[in-house]
Amino acid sequence: MTDPVTDPVAALRRIAFLLERRLADSYRIKAYRGAAATLLTVDADEIRARAEAGTLRQLPGVGAKTAGIVEECVAGEVPGYLAELEATAGPLVEGGEEYRAALRGDLHTHSDWSDGGSPLEEMAMTALELGHAYVVLTDHSPRLRVANGLSVERLTRQLEVVDAVNTHLSASGGFRMLTGIEVDILEDGTLDQTEPMLARLDLRVASVHSKLRMDAAPMTRRMVAAVRHPRTNVLGHCTGRLVKGGRGTRPQSEFDAEAVFAACAEHDVAVEINSRPERCDPPDDLLALAVEVGCLFSVDTDAHAPGQLDFLGYGCERAERMGVPAERIVNTWDRDRLLAWANA
Ligand SMILES: [Zn+2]
Ligand SMILES: [Zn+2]
Repeated sequence: MTDPVTDPVAALRRIAFLLERRLADSYRIKAYRGAAATLLTVDADEIRARAEAGTLRQLPGVGAKTAGIVEECVAGEVPGYLAELEATAGPLVEGGEEYRAALRGDLHTHSDWSDGGSPLEEMAMTALELGHAYVVLTDHSPRLRVANGLSVERLTRQLEVVDAVNTHLSASGGFRMLTGIEVDILEDGTLDQTEPMLARLDLRVASVHSKLRMDAAPMTRRMVAAVRHPRTNVLGHCTGRLVKGGRGTRPQSEFDAEAVFAACAEHDVAVEINSRPERCDPPDDLLALAVEVGCLFSVDTDAHAPGQLDFLGYGCERAERMGVPAERIVNTWDRDRLLAWANA
């Protein structure tokens, strides 16, 4: 285990994590992750020598602030900035603690292969450090070009990288990164990835990202068609609403929620409780309806950065407050049960 007091890389990663979980400006966070990535390739003796000689800033990606943090580490001190962030971190939300303790992983996450901010190995490491047994990597599908969606070729390569990361982490108590996709639900309700590729993945989240304002009747047909697709496991952020945040607000899509949730219940598709504070999707009334209809659920972060993997707490607070039965939340299940369900 790395010790933040003496390990500069661990200290910088921890600072980035704590900033991400409080949704700090991503440009600031990049400086810490960039410096950590550089220092990972420099041996400890050189770091010490440079800290003492004051030449850390000659290394690419190391600036005044990050160099100061490394110097504190080398001197055997907890960096002051890290101590300050830790002291003010606290829980993100009150409530939902039992649900959070029951969760074994996260089914919806992004890496820099699509529109996430960090390499998939960093997402895997952070999920492991959070105590997850699994994390599903669900980068975007090809037609979501604004999010750098993955073609068959790129996704095939990604599977090889995930495999290598899992081999590397195999000594870490059985944690695994699972393969997946957040596949776009196209306007006609088909899924934006080939059938052989969908079949190769461990789990599939299907979400609407385009034409969110279409009329309720065609939107209902579109969503029901996607839910009926035999490869669909999770219906991601079903209304598409944004309630706050840098991208502004966006009203929820209109559709016959009873029909969509009935299809989810019938086809064993989990309704996602999206934990992102700006999404908070589905809204309370629809979440209550999905509980009543008998749906399965997944509490997901939709993390686009490692620190956002901690957002599960927000979804758990909602799950508890809305009386979602814990046994119907699929990511409380162990990996074997989850995979059997996703590939039944
Ligand atoms: Zn999405
Ligand atoms: Zn997503």
